Amino acid sequence: MRKVNVAKITAAVKKICIDTNYKVDPDIIKAFKTGLRREKSPVGREILRQLICNADIARRERIPICQDCGLAVVFVEIGQDVKLVGGGLRQAIEAGVRQGYQQGYLRKSVAKDPMIRVNTGDNTPAIIHTEIVTGDKLRVTVAPKGGGSENMSRLKMMKPADGEAGVKELVRETVREAGPNPCPPIVLGVGIGGNFEMCAILAKKALLRKLGKPNQDKRLAKLEQDLLRIANDSGVGPQGAGGTVTCIGVAVESRPCHIASMPVAVNVNCHVSRHGSKII
Ligand code: SF4
Repeated sequence: MRKVNVAKITAAVKKICIDTNYKVDPDIIKAFKTGLRREKSPVGREILRQLICNADIARRERIPICQDCGLAVVFVEIGQDVKLVGGGLRQAIEAGVRQGYQQGYLRKSVAKDPMIRVNTGDNTPAIIHTEIVTGDKLRVTVAPKGGGSENMSRLKMMKPADGEAGVKELVRETVREAGPNPCPPIVLGVGIGGNFEMCAILAKKALLRKLGKPNQDKRLAKLEQDLLRIANDSGVGPQGAGGTVTCIGVAVESRPCHIASMPVAVNVNCHVSRHGSKII
């Protein structure tokens, strides 16, 4: 067994919380620049220029890209030959989130009770997903998620007969109804199959994929391209002001499901699309 002190997890979570809130991923910036060349609306082009400028200011001055610094969603893949020492995993992750959001001057966005709405004051608790994998390493991924885009996400228990056409229709409706709320240009994670909770997790995990990297399955890669076209045909445009660049990436993940079901989840992400990982 390889011993890993949980203090390393705290340090990694803290750093990723801060870094992902200060630095827009270079692939996203590249997508903004490509979008500038194909956006037909002058207002849309001006918004894309402002998004590039905003990202540049945030990186240089080490300030958040956006006022909504997100709910911390943490994925941990733990090798079965790892023995965690020095404390509990959840406590270590929460300490990293707390330190990152306090020391990075990031907005705390967690309500203690969904109906009473008192802020917890330190952006905890985080949403934590753990998975046991083979090996003696541990991968921690943090994906701070804004409320504007998360609120526009959808899950539908479709009929098996709805098929690919049903998935396309759900994405079309989701993007159109979301309009400006998720701060387009958006990134879409689509989970197909599994069951009720699994398809939502698949959609969330799809958002962790490198922007523009297609699914290895050719059929799903083609579906990703079709869904990207559908999203951009919506006319929502940058920040919802109308235009041709509504979406800069679609990632689809799929897995087996019950013969009577076809669950589909669309997790909408905004243009900041924050996520970062560290292998320990
Ligand atoms: S959707 Fe994204 S860009 Fe818009 S306010 Fe929320 S975190 Fe910020």
